[in-house]
Amino acid sequence: MAAHDLELRRMPYPFRAVLAICSDLDETPDGPAYLEIMRFLNTTAETSMGPGVGLEVGNSLYFDMPPGQFSYRNTDEAGREMVRALIRSGHIDCLHSYGDLATTRDDARRALDELAGHDCRLGVWVDHGTAASNFGSDIMQGHGDEPGHAAYHADLAVGYGIQYVWRGRVTSVIGQDAAPRLSGIFSPRRPLRSAKTVAKELAKQTLARRGHEKYAMHATNDVLRPVQLRDGSAVYEFLRSNPHWGGVSAGDTARGIGAVLSDSFLKHLVERQGVCVLYTHLGKTGDPRVPFDPAARAGFRRLAEASRRGEVLVATTRRLLGYCRARREIDFIASAGNENRHIALNTAPSGGAIGRPLAVSDLAGLTFYTAKPEVTRITVDGRDVANLVCNPPDQTGRRSVSLPWTRLEFPGL
Ligand SMILES: [Zn+2]
Repeated sequence: MAAHDLELRRMPYPFRAVLAICSDLDETPDGPAYLEIMRFLNTTAETSMGPGVGLEVGNSLYFDMPPGQFSYRNTDEAGREMVRALIRSGHIDCLHSYGDLATTRDDARRALDELAGHDCRLGVWVDHGTAASNFGSDIMQGHGDEPGHAAYHADLAVGYGIQYVWRGRVTSVIGQDAAPRLSGIFSPRRPLRSAKTVAKELAKQTLARRGHEKYAMHATNDVLRPVQLRDGSAVYEFLRSNPHWGGVSAGDTARGIGAVLSDSFLKHLVERQGVCVLYTHLGKTGDPRVPFDPAARAGFRRLAEASRRGEVLVATTRRLLGYCRARREIDFIASAGNENRHIALNTAPSGGAIGRPLAVSDLAGLTFYTAKPEVTRITVDGRDVANLVCNPPDQTGRRSVSLPWTRLEFPGL
């Protein structure tokens, strides 16, 4: 094999950062409010808040909740049909526990059977409030992965397809999969409160370095880590962030997101070439018919601009995590002749850190620098990728090829 010029780029071309808005649906009043939020974020159609911003933003789901909160069981048949369409299109990607009223293994089984029966698959689990089915033992007080407990369901959830779990860990650090620096959190306009947020984050990092397992993810600042649940199930845990100057929970709603999606935040995220799974609750809104106030709309429009400028790739949580997993686990052999280049990708028969092969869809967006894009071939498990994209030079001056990244198609609802 000749010495070669082939190298994996950190982010899908032309982007320098990736972000997912990871919204827990708590307090979303009803189906119409849920849909209006999704239409504003994912389409450019007219909504109660003006034209949508045309991003790609997922949402979460639960089943058994008290009246007045949107959930699969609380909505009507049309609402359930909407949910199933949004799962199939990839726009609902997270299971946010089974809800407050689902406390047993049978409740879990009923929910998963319902989804699987409609061929609706979710790959991401997000712990919720004080749900007994939570997986987190320290922050979230869950029992979902304790064999023998009434709420034990981890084997069912993993068998159904859950690969990524969130167990309560949140950071103020802007950009994961980058050094754990605290730049961009301090706000000169709010010196006391923001200094306190920085101090809190520093304390987490200090505890992490002293070996406190609760904050281990804060030490490395990795967005993903392979973990074993208490029943031995192998999954990835992920870290969410919310860099609001007042702390991780100060701006974690529809009313607070405008302040979070600031120019300063986006600039720091891009400079650090960071990954962000943004912790929020977009259903917590002052007005169910007009869920986003002018500040929130302006924040989403700033994010849409950063996306259109080719700076921040905005994707659902599931797609972002799949990309991050592929980037760290993809096994490839690169070879170069005088007139050709070949990158042979292998989706890991060993299944990587969790014993499951990468899905081909997780490889979307992978970008390799190459001096000769037009003569570069990429194969996946021995098969040629037919629709490779040749890219012009990026800010480093290097050219590249990408596996195509296609936007999810929002269903006609
Ligand atoms: Zn919740």
